[in-house]
Amino acid sequence: MANIKCIGILTSGGDAPGMNAAIRAVTRTAIYNEMEVKGIYRGYRGLVTGEIVPFKTNNVSNIIQQGGTILKTARCMEFMQLEGRKTAYETIQREGIDALVVIGGDGSLTGARIFAQEYNIPIVGLPGTIDNDLFGTDTTIGYDTALNTIMECVDKIRDTASSHERLFFIEVMGRDAGFLALNGALAVGAEAAIIPEIWTEVDQLEELIEHGFRKSKNSSIVLVAESEITGGAMGMADRVKQRYPQYDVRVTILGHLQRGGSPSATDRILASRMGAAAIDALMEDQRNVMIGIQNDQIVYVPFSKAIKNDKPINRDLLHTLRILSI
Ligand code: ADP
Repeated sequence: MANIKCIGILTSGGDAPGMNAAIRAVTRTAIYNEMEVKGIYRGYRGLVTGEIVPFKTNNVSNIIQQGGTILKTARCMEFMQLEGRKTAYETIQREGIDALVVIGGDGSLTGARIFAQEYNIPIVGLPGTIDNDLFGTDTTIGYDTALNTIMECVDKIRDTASSHERLFFIEVMGRDAGFLALNGALAVGAEAAIIPEIWTEVDQLEELIEHGFRKSKNSSIVLVAESEITGGAMGMADRVKQRYPQYDVRVTILGHLQRGGSPSATDRILASRMGAAAIDALMEDQRNVMIGIQNDQIVYVPFSKAIKNDKPINRDLLHTLRILSI
């Protein structure tokens, strides 16, 4: 068993609901296993500036239900440079931290991988992102809550969408991944989802106009994944205005409200399981792995795989969406 006495924990990059539940689980599992825990504030910036606080079990009391992250998060440019990572390592040595748990998305885990390679420090990552875009895990912490938030918002928009032939483009987050748009579209009964994964294969707008947007419907709702590839909801609306001026187009960008709110039961449970698994992994001498979940089983995914590989979208869902929108 690895001789780890003190764990440092940080949240980095975009915040996601459920990060607090993960912080709680990591902290309590580590303490249960007689390790010390240190909370590192503002992501990698806290390692560079030394903003670090010892965590006891009561530091993580009453947070499982809170969105955001009590450790705060930040984007830290210094950590992208060799010099910044050197300072971070000096902080780790000074604080007596033997291993790190990093909760964040693709960028944060990329930073973790580089840091672990440079300084030979054990790091375990937890996939904390609403985008669900990390390879090797069926879902990520925050994704389910964001999906539910999208569903509630779009249900409300649908209530007002009663005018004839009104076409609503609703932009959801995803950072070049279509999971929120596609599954959100299924959850709200939207006519279509426009996602970057199939952008080069079909003209999704043409397809929508030709097949999906039927005149017999009072209104149509289309979820568009934010992405430079698709041009987002505004890009779609501009195209429709130019080519099909007969349609009354509306755009809603859900924006940051998708990140907020109390985590769903699914996210709290996922974060709790993954947080506990992070400590198990470190005790088993695992390093440079992300905790994932596949078919309800915890798995260890090497950082290299989680970051480098594109997570495939389930194309059957697109087909189902098409059928259900007739
Ligand atoms: P996310 O983790 O949500 O994808 P970012 O891509 O903004 O968020 O990354 C969060 C932070 O991770 C960055 O601000 C930086 O500190 C660190 N990071 C990202 N990419 C790298 C990299 N290539 N090298 C070192 N650190 C990185």
